[in-house]
Amino acid sequence: MNDIPSSSDHSQPRAGWPGAAQPRADLPDINRPDADDSRADDRSLDDRDTDQPPADQVEEARRIVEQSSRILVLTGAGISTESGIPDFRGPNGVWTKDPDAEKYSTIEYYMNDENLRIRGWSRRVDNPTWGAEPNAGHEAVVALERSGKVHLLVTQNVDGLHLSAGSDPERVVEIHGSVRGAMCTSCDWRGEISDVLDRVRAGESDPRCELCGGILKSTTIFFGEHLVEADLQRSYDAAGDCDLILAVGTSLSVYPVAALVPHAVNTGAKLVILNAEETQFDLSADAVLRGSIGEVLPQLLP
Ligand code: NAD
Repeated sequence: MNDIPSSSDHSQPRAGWPGAAQPRADLPDINRPDADDSRADDRSLDDRDTDQPPADQVEEARRIVEQSSRILVLTGAGISTESGIPDFRGPNGVWTKDPDAEKYSTIEYYMNDENLRIRGWSRRVDNPTWGAEPNAGHEAVVALERSGKVHLLVTQNVDGLHLSAGSDPERVVEIHGSVRGAMCTSCDWRGEISDVLDRVRAGESDPRCELCGGILKSTTIFFGEHLVEADLQRSYDAAGDCDLILAVGTSLSVYPVAALVPHAVNTGAKLVILNAEETQFDLSADAVLRGSIGEVLPQLLP
C-alpha cells in the first residue's frame, strides 16, 4: 500500500500528496441549505463552452480509453448537472451565485448555529437531488464498467446517482460521503436521511438523535471533517495502479482528491479530462475534451 499522509482533515491541503500545494480543499454538501437556490431549468449549459469537441480529439480520447485496461474514473459535480443538480463552481454553480454559501457546509457553523440547521433541514426537504435521475453520463460510466476496464470509480459527488445508475458498489468510492444517509454527531447512530426528513415534514425543525439527543446531520463530509481514511487510501492506491485516469465533470480544485491526478500521471498513467471549463491539469493531459458530458462521454466507449 502507498503510504498516504495520516491527516485526513479535509480542510487541510495534504502536504505529502503530489500537487497538494494548492491551498484549496472543500467539503461537499449539496444537502446544504442553499442547495436548491439553483433550479433545474436554470442550469442550462448555454453559457459554458459546450461546443462539441473536435472529432479528432474525441477519437484520440476514445482510442486511449480503448487501449486502457485499468481505468480510474474520477467524477465531480459536472456529471450530475444534466440530472438537474447544480455544481458548485460552474457558471450556474451554487457557490458561483452565492460565495457565502460555503459556510453552510462547514461543520463548525452547523454545530453551533441552530437557526442555520433549522433552515437547512427545511430546505433539504425540497432538495433537487431527491427527484434526480441518472443521465447519459452516469450510464456511460456503467457501460465502461461492464466492458471490464474500470479499476475504480472515485466520485466526489454525494448525490448517489452513480449507484442509482447501476455502478457496482464494490468499485465505487463516494469519497465525500452521501446525502442519502443520516448520522448522529454524538453517538454511533446511522440511518436513512429520508426518515429524518419525514420527521421534519411532521414538524420537527431541528430533529435530534432519538438515542442520545445529539445533533443529526447528513452523511456528507463537511468542511472541517475528516475523509474516511480507508476510502482515501483505496483511491490513492488505485491512482498509483491505473493506466488511465479519466476525469469527468470536475474542476479538479478540491483536495486531496485532485492530487490523485498528478499521482496517477507521475506513476505512468494517461490522463483524459472531460469538462466544460479548463482545469489546472489540462496541460498534463493526453486529451482534453470540452463539451456536454451526456453527449461526449458515450462517444468514448470502446
Ligand atoms: P465543481 O463544481 O468544482 O466543478 C464542476 C465542473 O463541472 C465545472 O468545471 C463545470 O464547468 C463542469 N460541468 C458542469 N456541468 C457540466 C456538463 N454537463 N458537462 C461538462 N462539464 C460540466 O465540482 P467538483 O470538482 O466536483 O467539486 C465540488 C465539490 O462539491 C465536490 O466535492 C463535489 O462532490 C461537491 N458537489 C457535489 C454535487 C453532487 O453530488 N451532484 C453537487 C455540487 C457539489
